[in-house]
Amino acid sequence: MSNIVAIVGRPNVGKSTFFNRLIQRREAIVDSVSGVTRDRHYGKSDWNGKEFSLIDTGGYVVGSDDEFETEIDKQVELAIDEADAIIFMVDVDSGITPMDEEVAKLLRKIKKPIFLAVNKVDNSSRQADAVEFYSLGLGEFYTIAGINGSGTGELLDALVEAL
Ligand code: GDP
Ligand code: MG
Repeated sequence: MSNIVAIVGRPNVGKSTFFNRLIQRREAIVDSVSGVTRDRHYGKSDWNGKEFSLIDTGGYVVGSDDEFETEIDKQVELAIDEADAIIFMVDVDSGITPMDEEVAKLLRKIKKPIFLAVNKVDNSSRQADAVEFYSLGLGEFYTIAGINGSGTGELLDALVEAL
């Protein structure tokens, strides 16, 4: 498989909502698979005539923050190994959290294309709030609302361009 795109980020930022939107009306390739990838879901999508496979990470349940950090590091590292491009999703509603910083730290080290998606930007005041995400050190970001598709076109244009 080529053109693999992984969506990473801490729980509740909206990864699965965005994933489900993208794979809508596609055949049900989405599945949980066993082994090291048990917590990921796969699907197919296309944009501007370019097909890609999507990985939705993080269906895990963890007890403590420490346990969570270990798990998210593992997920991000797997995604980094496997993916051709990575969407790192954060949430404008909660702002930057220590777990976001942790993921950003891992992603800043890698050479693959990374698309920072600031999700839940449902109105213009939230658009202004998004500027804080520059401090993650990943450069430009895309403001989106996965729940209604707002802003996702620009993100997908850039994403498929990089594949
Ligand atoms: P995940 O844990 O990262 O996969 O996040 P989910 O996709 O399960 O979403 C977590 C919560 O955020 C759910 O209640 C979603 O309805 C909500 N959510 C997702 N996208 C948006 C959005 O664009 N705007 C708002 N306001 N809420 C959203
Ligand atoms: Mg999810």
